[in-house]
Amino acid sequence: MQEPESAVDPDWYAAVAVPGPFPELLEYSGTCPSPVPGVRARVPLGHREVVGVICELHSTPTHAGKLRPLLEILDLEPVLPADVLQLALWAARYYQHPPGDAIAGLVPRAVSDMRGPRLRVSWQAVADAPPDAKRAPARARAYETLNAFLNNPTRPRQSATSAELAEAGLSSARLRDLVQHGHATAAKKALDHSSVLSDPPAASARIQDASAPTLTEEQTQALKGISVQGQGFSAFLLQGVTGSGKTEVYLRVIRDVIAAGGQALVLVPEIALTPQTVERFALRFPRTQASHSGLSPGARASLWRGARAGEIDVVVGTRSAIFTPMPRLGVIVVDEEHDGSFKQQDGFRYSARDLAVKRARDLDIPVLLGSATPALESLLNVARGRYRPVFLNSRPGGAALPRLRVLDVRGERLDEGLSPPLLRAIGTRLQAGEQALLFLNRRGFAPTLLCHGCGWVAGCPACDARLTAHLTPRRLVCHHCDHQASWPAICPECGRTDLQHQGLGTQRIELALQRHFPDVPIVRVDRDVASSAKRLQAQFEVVRNGTPAILVGTQMLAKGHHFPAVTLSAVINADGGLLSADFRAPERTAQLIIQVAGRAGRAGRNGELWLQTYQPEHPIIQALQRGGYPEFAALALKERREAQLPPFAAMAVFRADATDPQRVEAALQGLRKLARALPEVHAGQVSVHGPVPAPLPRRASRFRFQLALMSADRRTLHKVVAALRIAADKTDRRQVRIGVDIDPIDLY
Ligand code: ADP
Ligand code: ZN
Ligand code: ZN
Repeated sequence: MQEPESAVDPDWYAAVAVPGPFPELLEYSGTCPSPVPGVRARVPLGHREVVGVICELHSTPTHAGKLRPLLEILDLEPVLPADVLQLALWAARYYQHPPGDAIAGLVPRAVSDMRGPRLRVSWQAVADAPPDAKRAPARARAYETLNAFLNNPTRPRQSATSAELAEAGLSSARLRDLVQHGHATAAKKALDHSSVLSDPPAASARIQDASAPTLTEEQTQALKGISVQGQGFSAFLLQGVTGSGKTEVYLRVIRDVIAAGGQALVLVPEIALTPQTVERFALRFPRTQASHSGLSPGARASLWRGARAGEIDVVVGTRSAIFTPMPRLGVIVVDEEHDGSFKQQDGFRYSARDLAVKRARDLDIPVLLGSATPALESLLNVARGRYRPVFLNSRPGGAALPRLRVLDVRGERLDEGLSPPLLRAIGTRLQAGEQALLFLNRRGFAPTLLCHGCGWVAGCPACDARLTAHLTPRRLVCHHCDHQASWPAICPECGRTDLQHQGLGTQRIELALQRHFPDVPIVRVDRDVASSAKRLQAQFEVVRNGTPAILVGTQMLAKGHHFPAVTLSAVINADGGLLSADFRAPERTAQLIIQVAGRAGRAGRNGELWLQTYQPEHPIIQALQRGGYPEFAALALKERREAQLPPFAAMAVFRADATDPQRVEAALQGLRKLARALPEVHAGQVSVHGPVPAPLPRRASRFRFQLALMSADRRTLHKVVAALRIAADKTDRRQVRIGVDIDPIDLY
């Protein structure tokens, strides 16, 4: 007699990450053989079947009630190794994001589309443990049959597949029953060697440092401070002025790790714009691969497999590379650790920098954060003894950092934002055969199209934002939703033809510079140009040959490049960040100014950085002028402490949007009311701010509001946020979308 499948007791219970907005892992039951965590499984979900990742296995159920059985296990080897799985689960909990959603996004599409190897369960009898034939006759018969089948002398093997045994009259339910009672064993078998770690080739194939420069005394000291071999977890903050040779220090640390058979992960803010960063690592370590969002699905999958198999020594990647499986990971480097792009801005809002520290701690390996302008969070971590500081205060070869000159532009007659003294200074530099770099802070300064007759301004139909007016080619673009429109010939309001291009833009500055310096090449670097990496590299070639030229650009210019022939750099509108409502804006402005200054200079030539400002007395400007970034940072930290703002308080923001403005505000009002009923909020341990409209109140036709919570105690804050999130999860997502942002870095 055959028992129905459902009568078999489960052998184990699996917590499965299933894509979707489920706040927890879902639990299913399963029968032997048991899988390893990290493999994918097909599971029932409502009336559908979906593929999830098994995260945990338990011998007893953690949920009461009847659990549905898992349908099929799809992999023999984990698609996510244990440490990456643990990191992702930890991150999902910390950032309060649905774990299934967080984990589903990690496995490259091409890996997860791959059909797993055909799995064969092979069954073996346990020789000396026959069932009691009196008390369990059916079981005893099954045991006999299995034994007879396996010991058949015409069969060469000591195991049998389910299909073979089914023909012999043994159902898989019967076989599982035998395994459960210890009379047989089962194992899954398939030919898949993907996870077998390949032995690394000889060091000479992995490390090529013939061209490495001799370290300066300062670098040698820094390296000593970081001597990491066998030291376990330690977090270092490498504070080195721009061009001080931080990258060279990373390369030496990584060299030692690779020489000892390890792998290294290097996180960088941006790759597309700075291919030379990856090249520097690849020249030294041939088995280097880049990881970024522009990879094709195939390339992404091959990176994933190569890193997992230990065939790649160094992964240089942007944010999401923090989840790359690397079984021999020996060090993590986060370059430009202050950069906001390490924080994901939607969906699973993790900070790759903070996860780098977490992953290093889990693996008990060192992590190295580096910047010329560290985040205030990181500086506080140094002050509190959590990170160990390492300094590089000068540039190899002795090139001086440019002198800061604050230029008060009140009362000056500006030509497209350029003051006469600045234009004169540029002219002098060009005549001396040198180059100049002009930086336009784009935040809040995009050019618009305005009717001089009636004041009409071109706006985006879907956002509360103005369209940015581009000159070549003439078009209007919304930088929040990508809406594009043609440049109207007449004003749509009053019909006049007096439409004017308003505000500063790199294109207008470029045109003005062409008027002033007709014989000098002007190189413009902004988002439009940068969309073509080839074009960008061609532009930089013009600059690298060292003959007189002017670079003009936005944020992209501040990242990673070094232009030795530039001796004058200028921030055209230093005020942008000084007046912002975002408490982090001053920090970002100071970082930008220092980074811009750092693009320039070569030994033997004195460089200068000009700041055009309407507020020369502003404390930030003054602090930067007196003592550079360290002085600014000390001042900013003091202000944050007094105001009890991050990093002295923990913060979380609920962000909601909907097509109906009343609904979205009401939803957050509801959360606020709930919050105020909680004892932690009532007692003042957690403060609630808002709801207020988001700084961009309407985007892509959706109205946006936010509700902020702060507390001196992170645990208390997260407890309150978790309670509110349960309520937020109950709102109908089709009407109002509510997401939570833990440790937000951008309130815009
Ligand atoms: P950072 O990462 O701090 O901006 P880099 O490591 O890029 O600095 O170094 C800046 C420049 O100095 C690079 O051109 C690099 O090749 C050079 N450099 C770094 N270390 C040395 C050294 N020890 N000797 C000579 N040149 C060096
Ligand atoms: Zn008009
Ligand atoms: Zn728009």
